[in-house]
Amino acid sequence: MENNLLEKIVEPLLDWYHKNSRCLPWRENREAYRVWVSEIMLQQTRVEAVIPYYERFMKRFPTIASLAACEDEELFKLWEGLGYYSRARNLKKAAQVICAQHQGNFPEEFEEILALPGIGAYTAGAISSIAFEKAKAAVDGNVLRVITRLTRDSHDISDAKFRGQVTEELEKIYPSEGRGDFTQSLMELGAVVCVPNGEPRCGECPLSSLCRAFGSGTQLQYPVKKKKTARKVEQRTVLILQLQDKTALRKRDDKGILSGMWELPNIDGILDEQQVRQWLAEKALAVKEVKTPVNGKKQLKHVFTHIEWHMTYWIIICENEGSDDEIIWVTAEQLENEIALPTAFKKVYRSACIT
Ligand code: SF4
Repeated sequence: MENNLLEKIVEPLLDWYHKNSRCLPWRENREAYRVWVSEIMLQQTRVEAVIPYYERFMKRFPTIASLAACEDEELFKLWEGLGYYSRARNLKKAAQVICAQHQGNFPEEFEEILALPGIGAYTAGAISSIAFEKAKAAVDGNVLRVITRLTRDSHDISDAKFRGQVTEELEKIYPSEGRGDFTQSLMELGAVVCVPNGEPRCGECPLSSLCRAFGSGTQLQYPVKKKKTARKVEQRTVLILQLQDKTALRKRDDKGILSGMWELPNIDGILDEQQVRQWLAEKALAVKEVKTPVNGKKQLKHVFTHIEWHMTYWIIICENEGSDDEIIWVTAEQLENEIALPTAFKKVYRSACIT
């Protein structure tokens, strides 16, 4: 990667950023805690979707100590809809580490930040540069897209070694002032001008006179990314068990996808009515009625990063609570206000027209 080409991007990018940056709540105050929460929320989630979550979160947990002391259930409820709950779990874990090992003050050294639960090189770089003005780069897909187009680099951007190399090269060109702005200017350009889907807006780009891809009309050939392996498809049978005004829930295992979260009872594979009745009988759950969903649809799909769930569901009106200690019965109001139910199950619950 050519260092003298990269050096030339600093000034025009900073200049562009100062004139065009979006006004976002986490940019008003660059305290490390605020930058950290925003960066974690922004992983896998769009800026517009994150804003209301971020504002609610900061209002409820204004300090690291308040986050460290919160109840999991309340934290997950605030996170409900953002998905990838391990992010929330790690935020709390890291807040507890900061309270125990750093007297509640966010650590300033890159290596200390990187050692916190749930923080990888990208997030550590973002916090170091934005909150502490260090010459640390934060290289994600947006930044890799800008850099590979700019330099017409055909390396596979999913290769960690290449990402490390880009990080190293960028850190050589960090300005002595405005380091946080430089990090954000690269992120911002990738998010709003050198966009991931469709044509980049080269006419609005401060780097167009330097950009090799633009110069050769090859923007859409970059970045180069190895084809992803197909997602694994899992069939699941989900049961919406109703007892008067209550619905059955149980906790998931502590390991694997959605670990430790609440779920609607569900079983591997596609069960027919007889097999469903058998499963219920094993738990001493007496069936009053097996109902058809109001909208007639009994299958739903939910996509995780590496797995796809194809869910067939049944609505069962029960006559008793059965004998399974793992099952709890909750009202629609508790589900709405107190309990965080992952989106996969919420989709099923809503589709069954219970709410
Ligand atoms: S000129 Fe176009 S392709 Fe090049 S960095 Fe700017 S937006 Fe991206």
